[in-house]
Amino acid sequence: MSNLEIKNISKTYKKGAVKALDSFSLKLSSGVYGLLGPNGAGKSTLMNIITDNLNSDSGEVLYDGVNIKKLGKDYRSLLGYMPQQQGLYDDFTLNRFLWYMAALKGLKKKEAKQKITSLLETVNLTGAAHKKMGGFSGGMKQRALIAQALLNDPKILILDEPTAGLDPKERIRIRNFISEIAEDKIVLISTHVVSDIEFIAKEIILLKSGQLISHDTCTNLLKQIEGKVYEIEIGKDKLKYFQDNYRVSNLRHNDENIIVRIVTDDIPSDYACTQTKPSLEDLYLYVFEKINQTS
Ligand code: ADP
Ligand code: MG
Repeated sequence: MSNLEIKNISKTYKKGAVKALDSFSLKLSSGVYGLLGPNGAGKSTLMNIITDNLNSDSGEVLYDGVNIKKLGKDYRSLLGYMPQQQGLYDDFTLNRFLWYMAALKGLKKKEAKQKITSLLETVNLTGAAHKKMGGFSGGMKQRALIAQALLNDPKILILDEPTAGLDPKERIRIRNFISEIAEDKIVLISTHVVSDIEFIAKEIILLKSGQLISHDTCTNLLKQIEGKVYEIEIGKDKLKYFQDNYRVSNLRHNDENIIVRIVTDDIPSDYACTQTKPSLEDLYLYVFEKINQTS
């Protein structure tokens, strides 16, 4: 089984003023990995380095033990990459865009024709093939970008926020689609939306300020906050206190009162707390949200 090893990668911008990645190391084998972190965590930087579109300051990326810089073209032919930015090809029809990308990837004409036809079917865009991409909805653009990433049957698929800007229905569609095509591939998906990866990732990677916080199956990660998630019924006047002092992952109204869901190391005394089963969203808050806990 092939593997991709990220070894001690560091990257700064602005002559060292911004530390985007800080000695990041991780080994990936086949399956879906969810790279989870807030904006600015370093997700795109990591993906740009893995895809060799950006040089790191130090460290290396190895594919089956060989530095990707050494593999060069051979590595690129294994790679499918969906970058974060949209709108670069708004003047292209989808068909022209895919032919253009196929040419860049060195596909032969016959091969390209076959692939484009079948991928258009896969991403459900056959009917839009001759329309300009500028007029596409967010979901259509994302699907077009995913199709482009799959032209060369990649063994490594890197998707940078593939569900950004999509409505819930489109999100589910893209998520299921990624899950379907992931077989026998190393798939890395970045997102700051927990539900995008909660059920399809075999492993979740938590990235914060350029540092790897932890990586594990969702079930194992949730063990970190076992016994730390509570629901508490409070009066409306107490809401601000809770929002200021605790990580509130959810709230719902119950007649005159509010039920807050918090994730905390310190159980608030003076309140009737019901311990609750943790979710990945609770973990996200626990890891990424700063609070000024007073208790
Ligand atoms: P993410 O994709 O998780 O939002 P990025 O990798 O885009 O994170 O950014 C990580 C950090 O590096 C952020 O602080 C961001 O502002 C900074 N950064 C990213 N790209 C550049 C760049 N080209 N020049 C300067 N700073 C950058
Ligand atoms: Mg990004």
